[in-house]
Amino acid sequence: MSASTRQLPAAEDVRFGQARGWDCIWCGRRLTSGAVSVGRVSEERAGLSFEVFACPGCGKNGTSHGA
Ligand SMILES: [Zn+2]
Repeated sequence: MSASTRQLPAAEDVRFGQARGWDCIWCGRRLTSGAVSVGRVSEERAGLSFEVFACPGCGKNGTSHGA
């Protein structure tokens, strides 16, 4: 089991603000500064994918850069 990567939610569970990069993907708090990119969520039915972000507190637990 990998501890370094945190599972992103399914696209249907991602709220509008999270999909837009306004809110943390894990705790839902509004992002101000220090947000970290944690990957992309794909919505296969709609053929979309979007980059999602975490606040610094959540992001430092689950980020692996450079993959
Ligand atoms: Zn958070």
